Amino acid sequence: MDIMLVIVFAVFGTAFGSFLNVCIDRLPAGKSILAPPSHCDSCQHRLSPADLVPLLSYLWLRRRCRYCGAPIPWRPFWVELGTGLLFALSYWHFGFSVAFAVIAFYGSLFLVIGVIDLEHHLVLNKISYPAMALALVIAIFQPPPELMTLNLAWHWSGIVSALMGGAMGFLFLLLAYLITLAIYRAEAMGFGDVKLAGLIGLATGPKLVLLALTLGAILGGVVGAILLLLKRKKRKEPLPFGSFLAISALLTLLWGNDILNWYLGLFRF
Ligand SMILES: [Zn+2]
Repeated sequence: MDIMLVIVFAVFGTAFGSFLNVCIDRLPAGKSILAPPSHCDSCQHRLSPADLVPLLSYLWLRRRCRYCGAPIPWRPFWVELGTGLLFALSYWHFGFSVAFAVIAFYGSLFLVIGVIDLEHHLVLNKISYPAMALALVIAIFQPPPELMTLNLAWHWSGIVSALMGGAMGFLFLLLAYLITLAIYRAEAMGFGDVKLAGLIGLATGPKLVLLALTLGAILGGVVGAILLLLKRKKRKEPLPFGSFLAISALLTLLWGNDILNWYLGLFRF
């Protein structure tokens, strides 16, 4: 593993992260992600290349707009840092391969979905639906080894696996959605989360989708309990479950097989 290349992909990731910030800002508002060019939200001044250097521009501008002095929130910084880490980790884990590109893509996708859900309590159909279509295209190039025994042509085994995972994710969360709806007589999670579970299943395949959903539920439960204990949240307030699902989907794509093997190893003597 060439450490220089890990650093190159980390830097490229932070730059890609600033594009993801544009998506997070504009997609919920129904604006184009291509035009206009990046500008300050307060004074509308167009940002120069020096204002757009990932991570570093936050430090030398001290998180303020150079032109009007309006404060810049922390979120773009964390998204850039997160995307840089994601690209570096994916390359470190998979080397320069199809898997690296696929994980970097899904990681970026789940980052955008997770942050938008955190900020707006929304999982946008205009992200989920095209992503589902793309997931099926990606599946053609990713035949999972456990389905090769079915003797299907290799591209079919990828699509069959994705569809099985997608159906499992969707149906599993649909069941949880209906049960909580019957108990609480109100939506405990949004239907966008159900569709997101389907998308996650398309990405992970049938073997790992339940792991991703379980991790998401555990993560949401732990964070929710901590927020309740700290009195930062009222019992009735909904949690952005999509954000937790997005994080667990990313963890599953990176380390799902390792986690599953470790867990199954606990029952082996
Ligand atoms: Zn400004």
